Amino acid sequence: MITRSITVLGATGSIGLSTLDVIRRHPERFSVHALTAGTRAPELAALCREFRPRVAVMADARAAEELAGLLADCPDIDVLSGEQGLIDVAADEQADTVMASIVGAAGLAPTLAAVRAGKRVLLANKEALVMSGQLFMDAVAESGAELLPIDSEHNAIFQCMPADKVRDPQAAGITRILLTASGGPFRTLPAEQLRSVTPAQACAHPNWSMGQKISVDSATLMNKGLELIEACWLFNTSPDKVEVHVHPESIIHSMVEYADGSVLAQLGSPDMRTPIANGLAWPERIEAGVAPLDLFAIGRFHFERPDLQRFPCLRLAAEAFATGGTAPAVLNAANEVAVAAFLEGGLCFADIPVIIERTLAATEVVSADSFDTIFRKDAEARERAMEQIRLLSV
Ligand code: NAD
Ligand code: MG
Repeated sequence: MITRSITVLGATGSIGLSTLDVIRRHPERFSVHALTAGTRAPELAALCREFRPRVAVMADARAAEELAGLLADCPDIDVLSGEQGLIDVAADEQADTVMASIVGAAGLAPTLAAVRAGKRVLLANKEALVMSGQLFMDAVAESGAELLPIDSEHNAIFQCMPADKVRDPQAAGITRILLTASGGPFRTLPAEQLRSVTPAQACAHPNWSMGQKISVDSATLMNKGLELIEACWLFNTSPDKVEVHVHPESIIHSMVEYADGSVLAQLGSPDMRTPIANGLAWPERIEAGVAPLDLFAIGRFHFERPDLQRFPCLRLAAEAFATGGTAPAVLNAANEVAVAAFLEGGLCFADIPVIIERTLAATEVVSADSFDTIFRKDAEARERAMEQIRLLSV
């Protein structure tokens, strides 16, 4: 049995809590080195009391002070703060495994620090990879980090490939990747009704319980767009070899097609603890607390093509990837700003793709030659996107 010392970035989130639930089931196998969160100190304090990490980090400085107060009786836990604190724990040599589950662009710098330190990096934070693509994969190759996909689709694809050919699918005889999508809560909603859907409706995903941002992304299909880009980088392939299949039951988590006509699929209950346990223990298999699949109860599987008219975000993501350079970073930043505005009631759902498309048009694409360039374009795109939202509301 391989034992692991783990840092969970984004411990209070949906993926972070699922990760800690798997860890909790295997105290002999896993220990927690560090836990981090953004702003919610009481929640992180409670997790610290249970998992007894050596270090706890709050991204927000004031929340870090609050956490230090809450943990005053735990002198064995160091409390750090800010992005530098996140970067330091991500690279800390006392952990061998880092769960990258901060949401959005805020996760890029700490995830990259874990990559550069050569960790086993469990990648949930797809935005980090979408933003920096080639630079990120180059950093993985240089450091020898072990990058394992946690996104359920990519973990499914990974499980359906020979482990030594993940970066060379052609040599494995792989002809296509069939990326499944639930279709989200508005899969069957007529276009005109998409203008009036509320954040609560968008966040009520039919099959998965997730953080707010990814729930909205699932409803717009931007999540599938980000995942298309993610698949191309992780499996060193091109979008013409990845076909999105809407599968409303969310039981097949994706499939891999081979030259001989075989199609391998990974199935399971829609519960992120399965891919998380797969990544934590790989190549071993461990119990994850997931209910066994009852195919008799499910009965039927359905498949349909995505509707790019009603859900333009998938098209926008594919176009940004084809444009290359800093376009995917701009796409991601504009999406983050538009989704936040929608969640705050300042933008209608149907205008999310409008803002992204206009931001892409208004932001010059340059070569993604360094992480500094990526961060600069991310900041520029956020300003442009906010400008577009203001223009729309006048
Ligand atoms: P979430 O909103 O539930 O949790 C996000 C975590 O990140 C929290 O711990 C929060 O404190 C922390 N955080 C937020 N902003 C931060 C900042 N600026 N600095 C530092 N920490 C910050 O999100 P989630 O649903 O757990 O998703 C996390 C990541 O995993 C996302 O990239 C998402 O796309 C990906 N993912 C999630 C799921 C899922 O089922 N939830 C599935 C696949 C992939
Ligand atoms: Mg996914």
